[in-house]
Amino acid sequence: MLHTVGAFSRIGEENAFAVLARATELARQGRDIINLGIGQPDFRTPEHIVEAAIKALRDGHHGYTPANGILPLREAVAADLHKRFGATVDPDLVLIVPGGKVTMFMAILMFGEPGAEILYPDPGFPIYRSMIEFTGATPIPVPIREENGFAFSAEETLSLITPRTRLLIVNSPANPTGGVTPKEEIDKLVAGLARFPDVAIMSDEIYAQMTYDGLEHRTLLAYPEIRDRLILLDGWSKTYAMTGWRMGYSIWPKPLYDNARKLAVNSYSCVNASAQFAGLAALTGPQDAVHEMVAEFDRRRKVVTEGLNALPNVSAAVPKGAFYAFPNISRTGWKAKKLASALLEEAGVATIGGPDFGVHGEGFIRLSYANSTENIRKALARMGEFLDSHRPA
Ligand code: PLP
Repeated sequence: MLHTVGAFSRIGEENAFAVLARATELARQGRDIINLGIGQPDFRTPEHIVEAAIKALRDGHHGYTPANGILPLREAVAADLHKRFGATVDPDLVLIVPGGKVTMFMAILMFGEPGAEILYPDPGFPIYRSMIEFTGATPIPVPIREENGFAFSAEETLSLITPRTRLLIVNSPANPTGGVTPKEEIDKLVAGLARFPDVAIMSDEIYAQMTYDGLEHRTLLAYPEIRDRLILLDGWSKTYAMTGWRMGYSIWPKPLYDNARKLAVNSYSCVNASAQFAGLAALTGPQDAVHEMVAEFDRRRKVVTEGLNALPNVSAAVPKGAFYAFPNISRTGWKAKKLASALLEEAGVATIGGPDFGVHGEGFIRLSYANSTENIRKALARMGEFLDSHRPA
């Protein structure tokens, strides 16, 4: 009998991958499936980025790199953050990691232990809670409410901080809701955090470049008063349609940086060398493809919201960021996960039930509009027919 450590009885995962597997299986059986489940852009990585990776390999960049990433890339990250936000970032505090997820993995490992509390958004990216539980820390959900436009509330967040709180995770623009927290609310949060100097903050800004209606992304890097305890999570996956490359970065406060670098040395050594050159080309090359992709998401966002609001007993807030719609389906009488499952099995539309993102996700399903307008319209029509002809299970 093998005995793994108890923590593995508490680790979770992302149901989006299970839905993807099921959707793929149904498609393999010949079913016509429209996948609005998975959160990845349906665009190709821009050609100049792909070419940079190929060139890097041809030029002989196929060995290990420094564990924290090649210097030109760390410098490019710092320059990009300066260009976008006017933020001053030391390239020596930039860590190149294999995907956005790795930063949350490291940050939660660094602060989570039995007796510690970690605050995280609910509904929110499922790995936050999974990793908090893995470490034995107590997960404290910060409810993200529809009536608040799916922004987090500074007051409610601050009210949940206790002497045991070690880390606060925030995410805007947000998965799964598409919510964007306004600048004033972030100002309020940061002002309130002055009362809790021992609480670290991890800001997941992986959707920073995906905001709509002229709304500007407000980065937590803009607040010098918390820079000594701020971990910034960002990466290439969403912005440059690079989910499969596994490219992310984090900015760490100086006292934490070496811990993070050592976690890299102890696990993956360094990020794939050619992918780092691709990341460099992404940041330093033309940004047209990013703007075109976001403009296309913007058009689809309107199609999906209008279509959802025309469905019986469904209402959907207009997403302000990312590429997700999070319609309220509670008035249909369906439980969210049952509805998501029935839509996949019977209507051939893959979505994710809100509870897969936390208990506060009940009553909602998530649709990713990273799919063609034609498919989105077809999926909405199928959902309408399904809701008209099926009683809640
Ligand atoms: N953070 C959020 C909020 C996400 O939605 C995702 C991916 O869906 C990630 C982080 C992880 O990104 P990556 O695929 O680069 O690990």
